[in-house]
Amino acid sequence: MRVEVLSITGDTVRFLVEGIDVSLANALRRTIISEVPSMTIDDIFIFDNSSVIPDEVLAQRIGFVPLKTDLDSYVLPEDCECNSDLGCSLCRVVLTLDVEAETDIRTVYSGDFVSEDPQIVPASPKIPLTKLALEQAVRLEAYARLGLGKVHAKWQPVSEAVYQHLAEVEIDEKRCTACGMCVEACPRGVLSLEGGKLKVVDIYACILCGECVEVCPVDPAAVTQDMKGDTFLFTVESTGCLPPERIVTEACRVLVAKLDEFSDKIKRGETDEEIVDFVVGEQEARRLYSVGAGDFEKEEEG
Ligand SMILES: [Zn+2]
Repeated sequence: MRVEVLSITGDTVRFLVEGIDVSLANALRRTIISEVPSMTIDDIFIFDNSSVIPDEVLAQRIGFVPLKTDLDSYVLPEDCECNSDLGCSLCRVVLTLDVEAETDIRTVYSGDFVSEDPQIVPASPKIPLTKLALEQAVRLEAYARLGLGKVHAKWQPVSEAVYQHLAEVEIDEKRCTACGMCVEACPRGVLSLEGGKLKVVDIYACILCGECVEVCPVDPAAVTQDMKGDTFLFTVESTGCLPPERIVTEACRVLVAKLDEFSDKIKRGETDEEIVDFVVGEQEARRLYSVGAGDFEKEEEG
């Protein structure tokens, strides 16, 4: 297997993996989306919300605000020894929001949150949460925790995690007349005429659209397109919670740990155990204003 990082720009990393098949490429993609922890607000206690947005909608919006995550200082609540409902300083961060429109109409932004840990703050301070008319206010306390995208989409660390097969463009130099029609037709600037010769200048940009083959006046076309079956071009864009390259390395770590566990099970002969009992868990009632997805106390009736 060969891995080559093509670019890291802002929140996006592009890299090439050569020598794997689709199942491994897809396993990596799914691990990036659903198994890399990130921090998000999970419980909210609203003391005052006179804004136009109802409490539960506001809580939903706040839950999806990406927070900068510190994976080295915090642990997942289920791995923490405190076993506390609201968590401890190792497994949660408290953020408060206390905004009142005193002199004029104002918008409440994610940047208005005050965090107890200056490292754990919204990835962008400019996400609008609600709007306040004069004398309206929002006051709340929010508990952020690490979580996994497979539990709730708000914990997905990426806004994009995709792969594509790497393209192969071949030019039959003997038959190519260097007319330049394919260079014009290509929407991604893959081909170029250099010194009267057709050349592939950016193969990573190719999306295998087939335009170059279609416009070629030579019959059969002097340009052919194919895809490399064992080479994948990944594009991963972070929500801002973690650097994109960290998300990929964490995903690889998780995937390797899972494969190790699977390999151990094979060695112990535990792969052919029959599933004898399959119980579907009952849906727990959600605690009021919670934007989480976990086990909560049932709401009092009446
Ligand atoms: Zn704890």
